[in-house]
Amino acid sequence: MRVHFITPQGYCHGVVRAMRIAKQIGDSTDGPVYGLGQMVHNRHMIDDLAEHHVDTVDGPDRLKILEQIQSGTVIFTAHGVSPQVRTRALEKGLRVIDATCPDVTRTHDLVKMLVAEGYYIVYIGRHGHPEPEGVMGNAPGRIFLVETVGEVDQLDLPEGKRAVTTQTTMSLWDTQDIIDRLKERYPDIEVYNEICTATQERQTAAVEQAKLCDVVIVVGDERSSNTNRLVDAVRERAGKPAYRVDSASEIRTEWLQGASVVGVTSGASTKTQITREVVRFLEALPDPVETR
Ligand code: SF4
Repeated sequence: MRVHFITPQGYCHGVVRAMRIAKQIGDSTDGPVYGLGQMVHNRHMIDDLAEHHVDTVDGPDRLKILEQIQSGTVIFTAHGVSPQVRTRALEKGLRVIDATCPDVTRTHDLVKMLVAEGYYIVYIGRHGHPEPEGVMGNAPGRIFLVETVGEVDQLDLPEGKRAVTTQTTMSLWDTQDIIDRLKERYPDIEVYNEICTATQERQTAAVEQAKLCDVVIVVGDERSSNTNRLVDAVRERAGKPAYRVDSASEIRTEWLQGASVVGVTSGASTKTQITREVVRFLEALPDPVETR
């Protein structure tokens, strides 16, 4: 069947950089090397790192993961860590390597600056995701996490200077809805939208180019925030069916029934080789597709 390869898609500069740092440290270090959580949210990439002697240690949050590591080198992932995690790693005598994406570091610096200037901050992000955990550690008691418009309605921001900023991988459109609601409730709130350029470009391309397709396959891990936002964006903003798969083997032919053109995009941490396999699988399907 006909495949439309949506561009841009796939690896972003933050993922490429984190993987390069981690592999180089794993290959050149005597003694154990640990990734503090998943270096990027993609199991194929984690397997790849293991071949370069980087063991991934996972857990509910970065401080708890750190308590499982007693010696050696620890690598902070592209999502960044809180100052508390950084301090604890050094207290434990670990060698620390920081692979935080520069775009995430910029948000940390912004939050530190806003706190120093006395702001209360609303942070639009995902509950339980490591990036908000790291950013929010810069402003205990002064930063409030919201994920939905409904959560804005529950907020009770203290009087004073107020600002809103964002996780780098949020949906452009949902974030704007949340910001609009915040402005209704707090007209003087200052807006610092930190959705990264890579995320913006990939979401915009997916929505625009989904209009040329009957259905869209998004390749990426179920834990990858930017992958899941691509699925949401295609469904909600382009009005086209979209399905996330981790590999070609997860594609169900009933999704493609009646479709002439299938779009393919992928998350920022998806291995290019896996996406190529998905494209090859789809191109080999008959047109029209028969369900198996
Ligand atoms: S999605 Fe954006 S913020 Fe996250 S690693 Fe990639 S470039 Fe950095």
